Amino acid sequence: MVIQFYNTLSRSKELFHKEPGQKVGMYCCGPTVYYFAHIGNLRPYVAWDVLRRLLEQRKFKVTHVMNITDVGHLVSDDDSGEDKIEKTAREQQKSPEEIADFYTDAFLYDLEKMRVQLPHHLVKARKHIPEMIALIQKLEKKGYTYTTPSGVYFDTQKFPQYGKMANLNMDELKAVRQDVERDDAKKHPADFRLWQLNQPHHLQQWDSPWGRGYPGWHIECSAMSMKYLGEHFDIHTGGNDHINIHHPNEIAQSEAATGKKFADYWLHSAFMRIDNQKMSKSLKNVYLIRDIENHQLKPLAYRFLLLTTHYRSELNFTWESIRAAQTTLDKWNEFIQRLQKYAGAHSNNEINALIAQAKEKVEASFDDDINTAEALGELSQFQRRVNGLMDQQKLSKADTRKILEFLQDVDEVLGVFDFAQQETIIPANVLQLAQQREAARKSKDWAQSDALRAQIEKEGFAVLDTKEGFELKALKPAH
Ligand code: AMP
Ligand code: ZN
Repeated sequence: MVIQFYNTLSRSKELFHKEPGQKVGMYCCGPTVYYFAHIGNLRPYVAWDVLRRLLEQRKFKVTHVMNITDVGHLVSDDDSGEDKIEKTAREQQKSPEEIADFYTDAFLYDLEKMRVQLPHHLVKARKHIPEMIALIQKLEKKGYTYTTPSGVYFDTQKFPQYGKMANLNMDELKAVRQDVERDDAKKHPADFRLWQLNQPHHLQQWDSPWGRGYPGWHIECSAMSMKYLGEHFDIHTGGNDHINIHHPNEIAQSEAATGKKFADYWLHSAFMRIDNQKMSKSLKNVYLIRDIENHQLKPLAYRFLLLTTHYRSELNFTWESIRAAQTTLDKWNEFIQRLQKYAGAHSNNEINALIAQAKEKVEASFDDDINTAEALGELSQFQRRVNGLMDQQKLSKADTRKILEFLQDVDEVLGVFDFAQQETIIPANVLQLAQQREAARKSKDWAQSDALRAQIEKEGFAVLDTKEGFELKALKPAH
């Protein structure tokens, strides 16, 4: 059982270096809460939820931190344009805090619907301004900053490894960054603002050693991750749009300040397209979770759809694909119910081997950079085999219990199936009566069969005849 992750830093799969039982720090770049999250935005959070679930299932002690960006994220990731939150605040004539809090709640509600677990620390940028100022001061002391009338900048040329994450050298970065806001006082196009100054119309402002202003978006993640996870931690995640700007900036400012490696593993999720097109307002394809619900589909069907594609592969969302995901998920839940209700008596001595084989393959897929798509492929083969065995009555109740246990283990990672339907506990004598009745039916002894049915009912159970034999249902709800 060795977990491997694709680390964007090395552009290769690397073995996860920790042992079960050890602590694992995981920081996931969170949303900028200026509007409802669209379904593309939600993709990374499902991916990292599965990552956390996998680590926890393997007994790592995970501390999961995620930020809520409620200040400083400008319309363009490269520090240009208006602050996203303030733009909405002006449009809706509300305060930036009201906007941020409203969309944070909406975001958390979407996560809940998709069974994404809340991080242990969900941290708001505007509540961590002193930590950000302290980090900038540290950088200033070490000579990594310079100040212009528009703000305090990080001097990327003082950090020679700057382009490592993006896999670009400083000249290439210059070329890539032609679109970056012109600030003639900037020494290099890749330099980025740590603290913004002289923006009198900005609503959220704080005093700082450099004057009134507000933090840059990038410094938020460094200050908050280090506060909750320490100067060096294990896993840092985000969407792959962060590979070229946001994450190189986080690495530069954190490592320059501490002299330590910031995070060991950098995982990035791929983008999603809609009907093979970019999501955009003009194409009217910026769908929200509520649009999924308005199509009479469940948010969990969307989670299932995401799981059917590896997190690093681009995904093409269509209404057809999510409908198919809903159908497959429904089949899984029906399968689970069938297993829960199954009451056959023919014990199968190959079942342990069948489960062990499926378990090995599924775990190997999870361990291989969280390949949920491959795991689901294995699982659907397993489902077909087991359904076949139930059709032929070649399983016992005890066998189905083992199968259910295995599926529950798998779902600790996937978080998508429904086991809620309470399994009825059937007393041994009732099961025996039902088996005797089944035998009577087979020998066409209807009188005996009816007598046994009456006896079963006296015990509080109804017996139904099914394709694979019989099913027992409690007449009164279990208490
Ligand atoms: P924002 O809240 O605007 O900062 O966006 C949050 C994150 O959502 C982005 O940084 C991306 O990683 C992710 N994201 C945005 N659009 C898509 C998309 N179409 N597919 C997948 N992820 C996306
Ligand atoms: Zn971040």
